Amino acid sequence: MTKKIAIIGGGIVGSTAAYFLSQLDSGNDFEVTMFDDGNGQATKAAAGIISPWLSKRRNKKWYNLARDGATLLKQISKQSKMPESIYNQCGTIITREDSEKLKELYQLAEERRDETDTIGDIKELTADEVMRFVPIIDSSYPGVFVSGGARLNGDKYASHLTKIAKKKNLTIIKQPVSINKDGNVELDGQVLEFDSIILATGAWTKDILKELPLDVDVRPQKGQLIELSTTQILGANVDMPVVMPEGESDFIPLGNGRLIVGASHENDKGFDLSADADIIDELLNSAHSMSNQINAENLIRVKIGTRAYTSDFAPFFGRIPGYEKILVGSGLGSSGLTTGPLVGKILAEMIADKVDYDIDEYRKPIENYIKLVK
Ligand SMILES: Cc1cc2nc3c(=O)[nH]c(=O)nc-3n(C[C@H](O)[C@H](O)[C@H](O)COP(=O)(O)OP(=O)(O)OC[C@H]3O[C@@H](n4cnc5c(N)ncnc54)[C@H](O)[C@@H]3O)c2cc1C
Repeated sequence: MTKKIAIIGGGIVGSTAAYFLSQLDSGNDFEVTMFDDGNGQATKAAAGIISPWLSKRRNKKWYNLARDGATLLKQISKQSKMPESIYNQCGTIITREDSEKLKELYQLAEERRDETDTIGDIKELTADEVMRFVPIIDSSYPGVFVSGGARLNGDKYASHLTKIAKKKNLTIIKQPVSINKDGNVELDGQVLEFDSIILATGAWTKDILKELPLDVDVRPQKGQLIELSTTQILGANVDMPVVMPEGESDFIPLGNGRLIVGASHENDKGFDLSADADIIDELLNSAHSMSNQINAENLIRVKIGTRAYTSDFAPFFGRIPGYEKILVGSGLGSSGLTTGPLVGKILAEMIADKVDYDIDEYRKPIENYIKLVK
C-alpha cells in the first residue's frame, strides 16, 4: 500500500530525505509531499565548507556523523551526477601561527585518515606554500592541506536532489504549514493526513511544535557572510582550496571569480534577516587582512541565514517521543551541510524500515532535546 509522507522543510535535511525516499527500493511505495517556506533557510545561505576531519570538538558522536556525512555527500554527488558547480573537492587548508598546534592538527588528520579515505592526501604547508595554493592571499601562517575537503553550494544541492525526486514520487508545495494539537499537518487551516511526517525545519523546529506538549531545545543563530568579486584581482576561472585561517573569517573561493568570506555567529538576533553594517565591515576587514587588494568595491552581496542550535551544540534526530509518526532532524548548527546529508538519509531509512546499522553511533538520546511535558 502506498504510504503518504510529508517532509516539512526543503533545506539539506529535507531535500536529502526526499532524494532517498525516491531512490530506496521501495521508492514506489511512497507518495511524498514537501512543504517549504524557504525564508531564512540556512542551507541557501551557507558558506559551503565540508572539512570535518581537523575539528577538535570532543563530541565523538558528532564527529562520527560529520565524518560519515562528508563521505555520504561525496557518494550522493557521484550517484546523482552533481556538477562541480554544486560539489567540488577543491581541498581545504587550515592555518596556525603556532607550529606545535599545526603539528597536532597534522597528527590528528593522519590518525583520522585510518578511519576514512574521503579526507584524501594530507600535507603540511609553509606560509609561502599556502599563498602559492591560494594566490589571492598575500599574508598567511603555515597550514595543513587536506585534498578531500570540499565546498558545497547548498541551494543548488537541494534543487538538484529534489528535481530527481520529483521525477519519481515528490510534490513540492512552497508554503508554510503547521502541526496541529493532534500532531497532523495543517495547510491554510485544512488538515492533511499523512502516515509519517519528517520535520526538517531547522531553526523553526520549536515553533512548528508549539501546539504539542513538548519541551524543545532549539534556538536560532543568525549567520551573515559576504560574497566578493575577485575577477579584477585574479581572473575569472582560477580554482583554489578553501582556507580556514587562524583568527580570521573563512575564505571560500568559488572558482568563478567569486569569493565568500564568513560567517558570523550571532546568538542574540532571533530570526532577524537584515544585513548589519558592522558585521559586513568586520568581514571586509578580515578579507583585506588576508588579501590587501580586497576592499568594499569588491562586495557583491550579503547572504544571511538562520542556523539551529541546541544547548550543547549537538544535532539530534529520530522519532519524537509520544508522537511516533513524526520524525525530526535539527540542531545542526554551523556544520549542517556536512552532517545534514546523513541525517536526511537516516530519517528516510527509518521511514522505509531499512536501518541496518547502529544510529546511536551518531546521536545522543533525542529526549535530551525534545521531551514530553507531563
Ligand atoms: C551563514 C551560514 C554559513 C554556514 N556555513 C556552513 C559551512 O560552511 N559548512 C557546513 O557544514 N554548514 C554550514 N552552515 C550550517 C548549515 O547551513 C545548516 O546547519 C544546515 O543548512 C541546516 O539545514 P536544515 O535542513 O536543518 O535547515 P534549513 O536549511 O534552515 O532548512 C529548514 C527549512 O524549513 C523551512 N520551514 C521551517 N518551518 C516551516 C514551516 N512551518 N512550513 C514550511 N517550511 C518550513 C524553512 O523555511 C527552511 O527552508 C552555515 C549556516 C549559515 C547560516
